[in-house]
Amino acid sequence: MSEVRPTVLIDEATIAAKVAELAAQIDRDYAGVDELILVGVLKGAFIFLADLSRKLTIPRAVDFIALSTYANSTTTGAVRMIMDLRRNIEGKHVLVVEDIVDTGHTLAYLMKNLATRQPASLACCALVRKAERTEVEVPLRYLGFDIPNVWVVGYGLDWAERFRTLPYIGVVTPEA
Ligand code: 5GP
Repeated sequence: MSEVRPTVLIDEATIAAKVAELAAQIDRDYAGVDELILVGVLKGAFIFLADLSRKLTIPRAVDFIALSTYANSTTTGAVRMIMDLRRNIEGKHVLVVEDIVDTGHTLAYLMKNLATRQPASLACCALVRKAERTEVEVPLRYLGFDIPNVWVVGYGLDWAERFRTLPYIGVVTPEA
């Protein structure tokens, strides 16, 4: 069995600076709002959400949702909800916090689903996006980084449940 070792794509300091920048923008945009509900998409967004939410100064609350994408099915983009929000978001300001946008199908499904619950506002903040893979355009009000079409791990992202707790975003390449 070959060893898999991630190589650094975005280092820890670069991520921290970007998270602080995004938090400052969100603070500005939602200044005066009574409460912003941050919806973390499990599992991958848990570290990004933890860091981002602690950088914010506006009143905020955290909730989670879990989705599954049938990545290997021939009908690409089939998304299923595994765990729903605890809270009713009707009339609330909601910001979806997503780790990665690949084809866009997962986020498109989620935004459509949440919109039916009539939040006061609904927007998305994604840490990374594979721009060249886009199949469905979903407006991202906040984006950390555009990355090439590679499989990334770390900072919440996994490869078969491995590497989620790496402090950086890396690329997995099987060693010769
Ligand atoms: P979508 O294609 O619907 O935008 O993304 C589907 C899901 O695939 C993402 O939410 C994420 O869980 C997973 N995914 C896509 N690309 C990567 C990647 O490079 N690394 C990891 N860990 N997950 C990815």
